[in-house]
Amino acid sequence: MSARLLLIGPPGAGKGTQAQRLSEALGVPAISTGDIFRMHLRNETELGLKARAFMDAGDNVPDTLTNDLVSDRLSQPDAAAGFLLDGYPRTIDQVRALDEFLATHGASMDAVVELVAEPDVVVERLKKRALDQGRADDDEAVVRHRLDIYAQQTAPLIGVYAERGLLAKVDGIGEIAEVTERIESALAARGILFTA
Ligand code: AMP
Repeated sequence: MSARLLLIGPPGAGKGTQAQRLSEALGVPAISTGDIFRMHLRNETELGLKARAFMDAGDNVPDTLTNDLVSDRLSQPDAAAGFLLDGYPRTIDQVRALDEFLATHGASMDAVVELVAEPDVVVERLKKRALDQGRADDDEAVVRHRLDIYAQQTAPLIGVYAERGLLAKVDGIGEIAEVTERIESALAARGILFTA
């Protein structure tokens, strides 16, 4: 079915993992701006070169670069019937850009899932991911900075989507499958159904 969703939550809350699982179950693409930026870093594209210093420091990449990238990605045919955004929007300016993009296409968001996880828990998770995956921005000092940036720039978005009646809060702590089930039932309560 068509569904336009986004997953919001601090780094390490499990957004990427859950986005993959939900996207399969819903048949819509999972779109992770972090993954797209990392692909540009690997391929050393112009965008990758511009984004690298921000990413390594755990800062947000500037809104104009990010908004252009997302509007290109959402314009691809596979996103026409729906998508699951992971890690975007992260700032109020990005919310505005997404709103404009959707309005231009006569579309709107169906739900926003907040994955709730305490800072101490996510720091521990990300330390483990640093060992497993070697992401430079999972270094502990950078992780703490990413959490601060989240608190300052991204957490306020939760109130914006709550006011619009779109927010579903889900406890992000637990087994992966258990968290997926929580998200699926929160979405089902909003009329978003899973066929798988
Ligand atoms: P993530 O994989 O979502 O944790 O993102 C990794 C890094 O990519 C972030 O720390 C930012 O530097 C950059 N990034 C990802 N998404 C965004 C976004 N929506 N706005 C700005 N920067 C982003």
